[in-house]
Amino acid sequence: MQLITSPSEIQSICEKLRTSGNRIGFVPTLGALHEGHLSLIRQARSENDIVVISIFVNPIQFDRKKDFDSYPIGLESDLKLAESAGVDLAFVPSAEQMYSQGHSTFVKVEGTLTQVLCGAKRPGHFRGVTTIVCKLFNLVRPHRAYFGQKDAQQLRVIQQMVNDLNFDIEIVPMPTIREPDGLALSSRNKNLSLEEHQAALVISKSLNFASDLIKSGERKPSKLKEKIVEFISKEPLAKIDYVSIVNANTLEEAAEISGEVLIALAVFIGNTRLIDNLQIK
Ligand code: AMP
Repeated sequence: MQLITSPSEIQSICEKLRTSGNRIGFVPTLGALHEGHLSLIRQARSENDIVVISIFVNPIQFDRKKDFDSYPIGLESDLKLAESAGVDLAFVPSAEQMYSQGHSTFVKVEGTLTQVLCGAKRPGHFRGVTTIVCKLFNLVRPHRAYFGQKDAQQLRVIQQMVNDLNFDIEIVPMPTIREPDGLALSSRNKNLSLEEHQAALVISKSLNFASDLIKSGERKPSKLKEKIVEFISKEPLAKIDYVSIVNANTLEEAAEISGEVLIALAVFIGNTRLIDNLQIK
Protein backbone atom coordinates (compact mmCIF):
# COMPACT_ATOMS: atom_id res chain seq x y z
CA MET A 1 0.00 0.00 0.00
CA GLN A 2 1.26 3.41 -0.94
CA LEU A 3 0.66 6.47 1.27
CA ILE A 4 0.17 9.68 -0.66
CA THR A 5 -0.28 13.13 0.82
CA SER A 6 -0.10 15.36 -2.24
CA PRO A 7 -3.31 16.03 -4.23
CA SER A 8 -1.44 16.39 -7.53
CA GLU A 9 0.41 13.13 -6.92
CA ILE A 10 -2.75 11.08 -6.22
CA GLN A 11 -4.30 12.66 -9.31
CA SER A 12 -1.43 11.70 -11.61
CA ILE A 13 -1.08 8.16 -10.18
CA CYS A 14 -4.84 7.52 -10.56
CA GLU A 15 -4.81 8.98 -14.06
CA LYS A 16 -2.01 6.59 -15.12
CA LEU A 17 -3.79 3.62 -13.55
CA ARG A 18 -7.04 4.48 -15.28
CA THR A 19 -5.52 5.02 -18.70
CA SER A 20 -3.78 1.65 -18.46
CA GLY A 21 -7.19 0.00 -18.06
CA ASN A 22 -7.58 -0.38 -14.29
CA ARG A 23 -10.97 -0.03 -12.63
CA ILE A 24 -10.70 2.16 -9.56
CA GLY A 25 -12.85 1.75 -6.42
CA PHE A 26 -12.82 4.61 -3.91
CA VAL A 27 -13.76 4.82 -0.22
CA PRO A 28 -13.68 8.33 1.26
CA THR A 29 -13.39 8.41 5.07
CA LEU A 30 -12.65 10.69 8.00
CA GLY A 31 -10.33 8.03 9.45
CA ALA A 32 -10.50 6.26 12.84
CA LEU A 33 -11.31 3.20 10.76
CA HIS A 34 -13.59 0.45 12.06
CA GLU A 35 -15.36 -2.60 10.64
CA GLY A 36 -17.92 -0.34 8.92
CA HIS A 37 -15.19 1.31 6.84
CA LEU A 38 -13.48 -2.05 6.30
CA SER A 39 -16.68 -3.56 4.88
CA LEU A 40 -16.68 -0.80 2.24
CA ILE A 41 -13.00 -1.38 1.48
CA ARG A 42 -13.49 -5.15 1.14
CA GLN A 43 -16.41 -4.63 -1.22
CA ALA A 44 -14.31 -2.20 -3.26
CA ARG A 45 -11.48 -4.78 -3.27
CA SER A 46 -13.79 -7.45 -4.65
CA GLU A 47 -15.16 -5.27 -7.46
CA ASN A 48 -12.18 -3.26 -8.72
CA ASP A 49 -8.54 -3.57 -9.79
CA ILE A 50 -7.34 -0.72 -7.60
CA VAL A 51 -8.69 0.40 -4.22
CA VAL A 52 -8.12 3.97 -3.06
CA ILE A 53 -9.15 5.34 0.31
CA SER A 54 -8.92 8.87 1.57
CA ILE A 55 -8.45 9.71 5.23
CA PHE A 56 -9.21 13.36 5.84
CA VAL A 57 -10.98 15.05 8.74
CA ASN A 58 -12.62 17.64 6.54
CA PRO A 59 -12.82 20.83 8.64
CA ILE A 60 -15.55 22.49 6.57
CA GLN A 61 -18.14 19.80 7.27
CA PHE A 62 -18.01 20.26 11.06
CA ASP A 63 -20.56 22.68 12.46
CA ARG A 64 -19.37 22.35 16.08
CA LYS A 65 -15.76 23.14 16.97
CA LYS A 66 -15.96 20.73 19.90
CA ASP A 67 -16.93 17.90 17.54
CA PHE A 68 -14.03 18.70 15.20
CA ASP A 69 -11.53 19.02 18.05
CA SER A 70 -12.61 15.74 19.64
CA TYR A 71 -12.84 13.76 16.39
CA PRO A 72 -10.74 10.59 16.96
CA ILE A 73 -7.50 10.31 14.99
CA GLY A 74 -5.31 7.22 14.71
CA LEU A 75 -3.41 7.33 11.45
CA GLU A 76 -0.92 4.59 12.26
CA SER A 77 -3.57 1.99 13.07
CA ASP A 78 -5.74 3.25 10.17
CA LEU A 79 -2.95 2.57 7.70
CA LYS A 80 -2.40 -0.93 9.08
CA LEU A 81 -6.12 -1.73 8.90
CA ALA A 82 -6.43 -0.26 5.42
CA GLU A 83 -3.50 -2.28 4.13
CA SER A 84 -4.79 -5.51 5.65
CA ALA A 85 -8.21 -4.94 4.03
CA GLY A 86 -6.56 -4.61 0.62
CA VAL A 87 -6.13 -0.89 -0.02
CA ASP A 88 -3.59 0.00 -2.74
CA LEU A 89 -3.44 3.76 -2.27
CA ALA A 90 -4.16 5.72 0.91
CA PHE A 91 -4.60 9.42 0.26
CA VAL A 92 -4.02 11.42 3.45
CA PRO A 93 -3.75 15.13 2.67
CA SER A 94 -3.51 18.01 5.12
CA ALA A 95 -6.22 20.67 5.39
CA GLU A 96 -3.81 23.19 3.86
CA GLN A 97 -3.30 20.95 0.85
CA MET A 98 -7.03 20.49 0.28
CA TYR A 99 -7.99 24.10 0.98
CA SER A 100 -5.24 26.41 -0.16
CA GLN A 101 -5.43 30.03 0.90
CA GLY A 102 -8.21 31.84 -0.90
CA HIS A 103 -10.23 28.67 -1.56
CA SER A 104 -13.67 30.01 -2.43
CA THR A 105 -15.54 27.39 -4.44
CA PHE A 106 -18.14 25.20 -2.77
CA VAL A 107 -20.57 22.56 -3.99
CA LYS A 108 -24.06 22.66 -2.57
CA VAL A 109 -27.01 20.38 -3.19
CA GLU A 110 -30.07 22.55 -2.61
CA GLY A 111 -33.61 21.74 -1.52
CA THR A 112 -35.15 19.23 0.83
CA LEU A 113 -32.30 16.70 0.70
CA THR A 114 -29.98 19.03 2.58
CA GLN A 115 -32.55 21.05 4.51
CA VAL A 116 -34.03 18.30 6.68
CA LEU A 117 -32.68 15.86 9.31
CA CYS A 118 -28.95 16.53 9.83
CA GLY A 119 -29.13 19.38 7.31
CA ALA A 120 -31.46 21.28 9.62
CA LYS A 121 -29.38 20.54 12.70
CA ARG A 122 -25.87 20.97 11.29
CA PRO A 123 -25.73 24.16 9.21
CA GLY A 124 -23.19 23.92 6.37
CA HIS A 125 -22.48 20.24 7.01
CA PHE A 126 -23.62 18.85 3.67
CA ARG A 127 -22.07 21.75 1.77
CA GLY A 128 -18.79 20.69 3.39
CA VAL A 129 -19.39 17.05 2.50
CA THR A 130 -20.31 17.64 -1.13
CA THR A 131 -17.43 20.07 -1.61
CA ILE A 132 -14.82 17.61 -0.32
CA VAL A 133 -16.34 14.58 -2.06
CA CYS A 134 -16.45 16.52 -5.32
CA LYS A 135 -12.79 17.49 -4.93
CA LEU A 136 -11.82 13.91 -4.07
CA PHE A 137 -13.77 12.58 -7.07
CA ASN A 138 -11.85 14.99 -9.29
CA LEU A 139 -8.53 13.81 -7.88
CA VAL A 140 -9.21 10.06 -7.90
CA ARG A 141 -11.78 9.87 -10.73
CA PRO A 142 -12.97 6.47 -9.52
CA HIS A 143 -15.25 4.14 -11.45
CA ARG A 144 -17.07 3.24 -8.25
CA ALA A 145 -17.35 4.94 -4.85
CA TYR A 146 -18.66 3.26 -1.70
CA PHE A 147 -20.87 4.94 0.91
CA GLY A 148 -22.55 3.54 4.03
CA GLN A 149 -26.31 3.47 4.61
CA LYS A 150 -25.50 4.41 8.18
CA ASP A 151 -25.24 7.97 6.81
CA ALA A 152 -28.40 7.57 4.72
CA GLN A 153 -28.91 11.29 4.11
CA GLN A 154 -25.28 11.74 3.07
CA LEU A 155 -25.69 8.87 0.61
CA ARG A 156 -28.80 10.48 -0.92
CA VAL A 157 -27.07 13.86 -1.16
CA ILE A 158 -24.03 12.31 -2.88
CA GLN A 159 -26.26 10.39 -5.31
CA GLN A 160 -28.00 13.65 -6.15
CA MET A 161 -24.71 15.50 -6.68
CA VAL A 162 -23.33 12.72 -8.90
CA ASN A 163 -26.49 12.80 -10.95
CA ASP A 164 -26.77 16.58 -11.17
CA LEU A 165 -23.10 17.17 -12.02
CA ASN A 166 -22.82 14.22 -14.45
CA PHE A 167 -20.07 12.40 -12.61
CA ASP A 168 -19.39 9.11 -14.39
CA ILE A 169 -19.16 7.24 -11.08
CA GLU A 170 -21.24 4.38 -9.75
CA ILE A 171 -22.25 5.05 -6.15
CA VAL A 172 -22.42 1.78 -4.24
CA PRO A 173 -24.56 1.85 -1.07
CA MET A 174 -23.39 -0.46 1.71
CA PRO A 175 -25.34 -1.82 4.72
CA THR A 176 -24.73 -0.59 8.26
CA ILE A 177 -22.31 -2.66 10.31
CA ARG A 178 -23.14 -2.93 14.01
CA GLU A 179 -21.55 -4.08 17.24
CA PRO A 180 -22.93 -7.44 18.45
CA ASP A 181 -24.98 -5.40 20.96
CA GLY A 182 -26.65 -3.47 18.10
CA LEU A 183 -24.82 -0.14 18.31
CA ALA A 184 -24.04 1.10 14.79
CA LEU A 185 -20.27 1.36 14.36
CA SER A 186 -19.07 4.94 14.27
CA SER A 187 -15.71 6.58 14.83
CA ARG A 188 -17.44 8.74 17.43
CA ASN A 189 -18.18 5.62 19.54
CA LYS A 190 -14.54 5.89 20.64
CA ASN A 191 -15.56 9.00 22.61
CA LEU A 192 -18.18 7.12 24.65
CA SER A 193 -17.48 5.96 28.20
CA LEU A 194 -18.57 2.44 29.11
CA GLU A 195 -21.69 3.84 30.73
CA GLU A 196 -22.45 5.99 27.68
CA HIS A 197 -21.95 3.02 25.36
CA GLN A 198 -24.60 1.12 27.33
CA ALA A 199 -26.90 4.14 27.19
CA ALA A 200 -26.34 4.49 23.42
CA LEU A 201 -27.91 1.07 22.88
CA VAL A 202 -31.27 2.79 23.28
CA ILE A 203 -30.79 4.13 19.73
CA SER A 204 -30.72 0.80 17.88
CA LYS A 205 -33.22 -0.65 20.34
CA SER A 206 -35.66 2.15 19.52
CA LEU A 207 -35.35 1.31 15.81
CA ASN A 208 -36.01 -2.38 16.52
CA PHE A 209 -38.98 -1.31 18.62
CA ALA A 210 -40.27 0.81 15.69
CA SER A 211 -39.80 -2.11 13.32
CA ASP A 212 -41.86 -4.34 15.62
CA LEU A 213 -44.60 -1.72 15.84
CA ILE A 214 -44.76 -1.54 12.05
CA LYS A 215 -44.86 -5.33 11.79
CA SER A 216 -47.76 -5.36 14.20
CA GLY A 217 -49.67 -2.92 12.04
CA GLU A 218 -48.77 0.64 13.06
CA ARG A 219 -48.94 2.80 9.93
CA LYS A 220 -49.14 6.32 11.29
CA PRO A 221 -45.77 8.13 11.26
CA SER A 222 -46.89 10.56 13.97
CA LYS A 223 -47.83 7.71 16.34
CA LEU A 224 -44.64 5.84 15.55
CA LYS A 225 -42.53 8.92 16.15
CA GLU A 226 -44.26 9.59 19.45
CA LYS A 227 -43.51 6.04 20.60
CA ILE A 228 -39.87 6.22 19.51
CA VAL A 229 -39.42 9.53 21.37
CA GLU A 230 -41.04 8.04 24.45
CA PHE A 231 -38.78 4.96 24.21
CA ILE A 232 -35.55 6.98 23.92
CA SER A 233 -36.60 9.45 26.61
CA LYS A 234 -36.52 6.65 29.18
CA GLU A 235 -32.72 6.66 28.90
CA PRO A 236 -31.44 9.48 31.15
CA LEU A 237 -28.14 9.94 29.27
CA ALA A 238 -29.87 10.33 25.89
CA LYS A 239 -30.95 13.69 24.50
CA ILE A 240 -32.87 13.53 21.24
CA ASP A 241 -31.66 15.84 18.46
CA TYR A 242 -34.29 14.61 16.02
CA VAL A 243 -36.51 11.67 15.21
CA SER A 244 -37.87 11.81 11.66
CA ILE A 245 -39.85 9.51 9.45
CA VAL A 246 -39.36 10.41 5.82
CA ASN A 247 -39.69 9.11 2.29
CA ALA A 248 -36.35 7.33 1.72
CA ASN A 249 -35.90 8.89 -1.69
CA THR A 250 -37.07 12.50 -1.30
CA LEU A 251 -36.49 12.76 2.47
CA GLU A 252 -39.82 14.56 2.70
CA GLU A 253 -41.86 13.82 5.77
CA ALA A 254 -43.80 10.59 5.27
CA ALA A 255 -47.57 10.93 5.43
CA GLU A 256 -47.92 7.19 5.96
CA ILE A 257 -45.76 4.09 6.30
CA SER A 258 -45.79 2.84 2.73
CA GLY A 259 -43.26 2.51 -0.08
CA GLU A 260 -39.68 3.11 1.03
CA VAL A 261 -39.56 4.90 4.34
CA LEU A 262 -36.56 5.98 6.37
CA ILE A 263 -36.70 6.33 10.12
CA ALA A 264 -33.74 8.56 10.97
CA LEU A 265 -32.48 9.48 14.42
CA ALA A 266 -29.84 11.73 15.89
CA VAL A 267 -29.29 11.45 19.63
CA PHE A 268 -26.75 13.03 21.94
CA ILE A 269 -25.26 10.64 24.46
CA GLY A 270 -23.38 13.03 26.72
CA ASN A 271 -21.40 15.24 24.34
CA THR A 272 -21.35 12.67 21.55
CA ARG A 273 -23.90 12.99 18.79
CA LEU A 274 -24.80 9.66 17.21
CA ILE A 275 -26.99 8.92 14.21
CA ASP A 276 -28.71 5.76 13.10
CA ASN A 277 -31.56 4.82 10.82
CA LEU A 278 -33.83 2.08 9.64
CA GLN A 279 -34.96 1.76 6.06
CA ILE A 280 -38.29 0.05 5.56
CA LYS A 281 -39.50 -1.29 2.26
P1 AMP B 1 -16.83 8.44 7.98
O1 AMP B 1 -15.37 8.15 8.19
O2 AMP B 1 -17.63 8.38 9.23
O3 AMP B 1 -17.07 9.66 7.15
O4 AMP B 1 -17.37 7.22 7.11
C1 AMP B 1 -16.83 6.89 5.87
C2 AMP B 1 -17.77 5.97 5.14
O5 AMP B 1 -18.00 4.81 5.92
C3 AMP B 1 -19.14 6.63 4.90
O6 AMP B 1 -19.62 6.26 3.62
C4 AMP B 1 -19.97 6.03 6.00
O7 AMP B 1 -21.34 5.98 5.70
C5 AMP B 1 -19.39 4.63 6.10
N1 AMP B 1 -19.69 4.07 7.42
C6 AMP B 1 -19.50 4.64 8.63
N2 AMP B 1 -19.95 3.86 9.61
C7 AMP B 1 -20.45 2.73 9.01
C8 AMP B 1 -21.07 1.55 9.47
N3 AMP B 1 -21.29 1.32 10.77
N4 AMP B 1 -21.45 0.63 8.56
C9 AMP B 1 -21.26 0.83 7.24
N5 AMP B 1 -20.67 1.94 6.74
C10 AMP B 1 -20.27 2.88 7.60
